[in-house]
Amino acid sequence: MAYSEARSLTPTCISKRVDAKWVPPHVRLRRVEAGGSGGCVVDTLTPTERSAQMARVRDRDTAPELRVRRLAHHLGYRYRKHRSDLPGRPDMAFIRCHKAVFVHGCFWHRHDCAAGRRLPKSRLDFWLPKLEGNRARDVSNLARLRADGWDVLVIWECETGNADVLAERLRTFLNA
Ligand SMILES: [Zn+2]
Repeated sequence: MAYSEARSLTPTCISKRVDAKWVPPHVRLRRVEAGGSGGCVVDTLTPTERSAQMARVRDRDTAPELRVRRLAHHLGYRYRKHRSDLPGRPDMAFIRCHKAVFVHGCFWHRHDCAAGRRLPKSRLDFWLPKLEGNRARDVSNLARLRADGWDVLVIWECETGNADVLAERLRTFLNA
């Protein structure tokens, strides 16, 4: 069955893949190169400039998020992205099955990994509340979504390096 046919036959947000193993070559994920978001940041900007830059950097369609979204799409799942009526505007929302996926940058969302624990070398008084605020907001958004009956999956940037592992996580979460 052609991919397009498979699409048209699968109206729900959980649709079957054409082939359980196959992932298009351009979707095969490469290991995330170190230092993509964070690293040893020496801050030379004013808080206002930094805030504006941070808003741009943290905005939608970051590389890890794109990788996950493309993979989900090629696995046959259909979703809405950044639904602003949902807490935290999940990167992917599978409306009918009430499942939401966030792809979080380790640095920005303070993941408990090497990249997430790293802090800028300067302006810590500015950065730490900012980053902790992100984390607190994430916790609150997840709680609100779950209270509304949503299943939520958080995929960390450092977990997006292996396409096969990632595909399995998505399948397990979305088919449950
Ligand atoms: Zn991480």
